[in-house]
Amino acid sequence: MTEAMRLDGIRAGRLGPEDLARNFDDLHPPLDRHEALVAADRCYFCHDAPCVTACPTDIDIPLFIRQIATGMPEAAAKTIFDQNILGGMCARVCPTETLCEEVCVREVAEGKPVEIGRLQRHATDSMMQAGEHPYTRAPDTGRHVAVVGAGPAGLACAHRLAMLGHSVTMYDARPKPGGLNEYGIAQYKTPDNFAQAEVDWLLKIGGITVETGRAIGDGLTLEDLRDRFDAVFLGIGLGGVGALGLEGEAATGCENAVDFIAALRQAPDLTQLPVGRHVIVIGGGMTAVDAAVQSKLLGAETVTIAYRRDRDRMPASRWEQDLAATHGVRLMFGLVPQALHGDDRLREVELAYVDANMAPTGETQRLPADQLFRAIGQKLVAVEGLALDGGKIAVTGAGQTSLTGVWAGGDCAMGGEDLTVTAVAEGRDAAMDIHARLGLS
Ligand code: SF4
Repeated sequence: MTEAMRLDGIRAGRLGPEDLARNFDDLHPPLDRHEALVAADRCYFCHDAPCVTACPTDIDIPLFIRQIATGMPEAAAKTIFDQNILGGMCARVCPTETLCEEVCVREVAEGKPVEIGRLQRHATDSMMQAGEHPYTRAPDTGRHVAVVGAGPAGLACAHRLAMLGHSVTMYDARPKPGGLNEYGIAQYKTPDNFAQAEVDWLLKIGGITVETGRAIGDGLTLEDLRDRFDAVFLGIGLGGVGALGLEGEAATGCENAVDFIAALRQAPDLTQLPVGRHVIVIGGGMTAVDAAVQSKLLGAETVTIAYRRDRDRMPASRWEQDLAATHGVRLMFGLVPQALHGDDRLREVELAYVDANMAPTGETQRLPADQLFRAIGQKLVAVEGLALDGGKIAVTGAGQTSLTGVWAGGDCAMGGEDLTVTAVAEGRDAAMDIHARLGLS
């Protein structure tokens, strides 16, 4: 092993506070008023706009861009929030490059789309920073709904139910509400505690009680919730993480990427957050990219993502792949972990090349590593009594599960991509269905 590849374990303080502050600054700084007007001016306000069709929450994009262009960002925000109450977060984390911006006619014609995501952020920020909440509750229906999971699906469901006049009790296993927005997304996408600010803003609707530290199987049972409430919505995400199934996985240095990201998001001082000198991330989704890029930003010397398939089949978008590459992360394809070397502390990861059918080619490569992040196969923590489909909660229609009076949406439920924006749409639509089933629409 060369001196340049020396391992020194996992330690904090690889970079100083100024470097860390710069590294974890806002990935997409907000547009100022003039920049927003210039960006909005590029929109053709298309009839049958393809960007709207591509948006999982069906936001009327040309309308909100026109409202920005005519100097009415608050009206634009209302247009967005009517469809997507987490429009502020989605403006920051949506993979717009594979959704609305990919199909924008200016992308298709010129290779440069209207900056829909940044315009959405401009609009939603202007209303949220003013502290305004544009919705009021309908008269009290006397109905009470339990929402389990205070992530994007649960929050969207709870807000829509509260608007319709229902009382909502929202439970979450973690100490803070927000789900993946608070614990599972790279810091540089949502700096300045935006996830909690958004939850606080959303709860201004009223009628929603939040109980944290409560989960099904840990103080709550689905049976009891069905007895006590008029309806139940499950937005519990995917809590389990897949193992590599290799000997030595319990060694110091082998960790789950989701735990690393959560620790980073909750760290009061990034100079105290440990990271390896040589880091390997196993996986190919957004979690893998978020863990890899943030390891580099914390000061890791080499960071490698090893993904089992080819680049085109990597779940993280090409834009996310490029983001990783521009931060100095090495992307390797067609590789699976075969062995972990080291005693009680990880020292090397042996990777095996596989072909398109996942069959080993016989070639292997050993990379020095003092930290490995598993970013593979997040799994549903099973809920007794619910039918499953493909490892997720089976649903029909707008999230109805196999149990009467129980709905589900977001990553835990079958159907739709595992995206914040899709979870919001599913939570919102389930709320409308619950309202209808309660005989109140
Ligand atoms: Fe505007 Fe592009 Fe949408 Fe057309 S496709 S309405 S140009 S953002």
